[in-house]
Amino acid sequence: MAMIFKLTKHSDNLISELFEKAIKELISFYKFNWVQNQPKVYIIDSREDINSVYGKDTQDWLIGWSDGRSIYLLNPENIEKESNHKYSDDLYFKLIKHELSHLFYKLVTNTDKPSWLNEGVATYVSGQVNEGTDFSNLSKFLEDPKEVGSAIYKEAGFALLLLSKEFGDEKILQYIKEIKGYRTSDEIRLKFQSVFDRDLTYDSFNMLLKKHYTKE
Ligand SMILES: [Zn+2]
Repeated sequence: MAMIFKLTKHSDNLISELFEKAIKELISFYKFNWVQNQPKVYIIDSREDINSVYGKDTQDWLIGWSDGRSIYLLNPENIEKESNHKYSDDLYFKLIKHELSHLFYKLVTNTDKPSWLNEGVATYVSGQVNEGTDFSNLSKFLEDPKEVGSAIYKEAGFALLLLSKEFGDEKILQYIKEIKGYRTSDEIRLKFQSVFDRDLTYDSFNMLLKKHYTKE
């Protein structure tokens, strides 16, 4: 059966304001001046409609995603009714920035792989890494995301925070740019080696974790 959706143009001061702020900050992070044909934002009212547009049943925590040049968001007014999140403008801003980050990543790299870097950067730049989370050992984020599920967001975001503490955002951007034309996971590993001068392994990240988060 044909999947038909009826769209109308919509004005929303809050979403517009959060969008502008996120775009501005991402232009600064990615050093990519995205001014023409900016991403479109689609607001969806219910879980049921999310499932139809997304193409399969989604879990309670999913309130947005990105695809090509667009981001899809659950209507902020229905966050508490249709998801397990508690609404705040801060939560919604981070959601918008996370999804927009994926679009910038795609433009800069021509790919959405590797998942740990794409999700890690989106989670890190949008401020979704909770520094209070007690990470004692990173052991999941480099695996296939289909295997580890949502653990990839938390860990990969924290892994990017560690890279940022050790090397700074410029170096992260350098790595992202070098991913362009990426074909194999071996290439990704070699690039990581050459940019950060260490192996792309859990050990490398856990050493940074010890260095930056060991309490005296
Ligand atoms: Zn994401």
